[in-house]
Amino acid sequence: MVDTFGREINYLRLSVTERCNLRCRYCMPECGIEKKPHSEILTEEEMVMAVSVAAGLGIKKLRITGGEPLIKPNILSICRHMSEIGGIEEVSITTNGLRLKEYAKDLAAAGVSRVNISLDTLDKEKYAYITRRGELDGVFDGIEAALAAGFSKVKLNTVLIGGFNDDEIRPLAMLTRKYPVDVRFIELMPMYDSGDFGAEAFISCEKVLEELPELMPEPMPEPLSTSARVGEQSPERPLASAKEGVARLYRLPGAYGRVGLISAMSCDFCAECSRIRLMADGAIKPCLHYDREFMIKGLDEDGMREKFVEAIAAKPKRHGWLSYANRSNAGRNMNMIGG
Ligand code: SAM
Ligand code: SF4
Repeated sequence: MVDTFGREINYLRLSVTERCNLRCRYCMPECGIEKKPHSEILTEEEMVMAVSVAAGLGIKKLRITGGEPLIKPNILSICRHMSEIGGIEEVSITTNGLRLKEYAKDLAAAGVSRVNISLDTLDKEKYAYITRRGELDGVFDGIEAALAAGFSKVKLNTVLIGGFNDDEIRPLAMLTRKYPVDVRFIELMPMYDSGDFGAEAFISCEKVLEELPELMPEPMPEPLSTSARVGEQSPERPLASAKEGVARLYRLPGAYGRVGLISAMSCDFCAECSRIRLMADGAIKPCLHYDREFMIKGLDEDGMREKFVEAIAAKPKRHGWLSYANRSNAGRNMNMIGG
């Protein structure tokens, strides 16, 4: 479906649970969340019906997220059903990786083709600090299990946090030379209650380019790269890079994978946004930083279709300019929205 501003909406992020086995300081409060009764969470059947309806409206790519999707007891069944829905061409998952050792093979067998794993530091103590409870070794076990399971793509997501991991940009990016993975740096977003971090913690993705002068942009698709070569780029490091979704892509010399920059704060990618989000309680969010939501819990297929159409029509042209004084209007923390 095409929205009011001519954008084709073909990507749905489905948060299957608000719960998590970690408490990352920028995402969730330390005390966790108030557990909603099962009656207020979409059932598996409702999730399948909603995604089938969305596929009928043009959704082709589905990302399963959370909270932590791998603590959902029926996660394999959800993935299997999603990958069988006509029109859904790709099912991917975003996870903190701690349960991947156990789940990677079964997820691949259930039709999941791509996995994103969150990893903000390579230091065990810092990992325990930022997640308030996690063990770093478990994430590496998960990464290795994901690589062995044969997914078509494995990506590592790092939220850049000033004073916490800005001294680890190089070693984190170097993982692309050790493993066939992409490493993506994401700017920290000031969410509703992402408490511990203020303006001083924000660092722009440009810091990655400063720290790694040898990073080279991945080539643009042909016609654009030819025009860019004519005048816009310097011979040292061309300015333009290929994009994949919201990420600008670069590569270290000799690396298997790419380095992606997701400038959630300093760069505006709303004009190319193809996404819509469905959260575990059944609310559709047309835009990550927008408080308007459309509830589908308890509706039949026709009712759900109507709400998806309304939500896509309500997708704003862009969200308000985010800053630490002007926090997200999402009205929810990221564990509920799913990133
Ligand atoms: N639990 C899974 C995980 O951590 O990958 C999936 C859900 S998590 C909400 C999805 C992504 O959102 C993670 O990569 C996480 O780092 C990111 N995220 C959470 N809060 C954020 C914030 N305030 N700013 C930027 N990214 C954030
Ligand atoms: Fe849990 Fe993911 Fe949020 Fe961390 S970022 S608290 S792992 S949902």
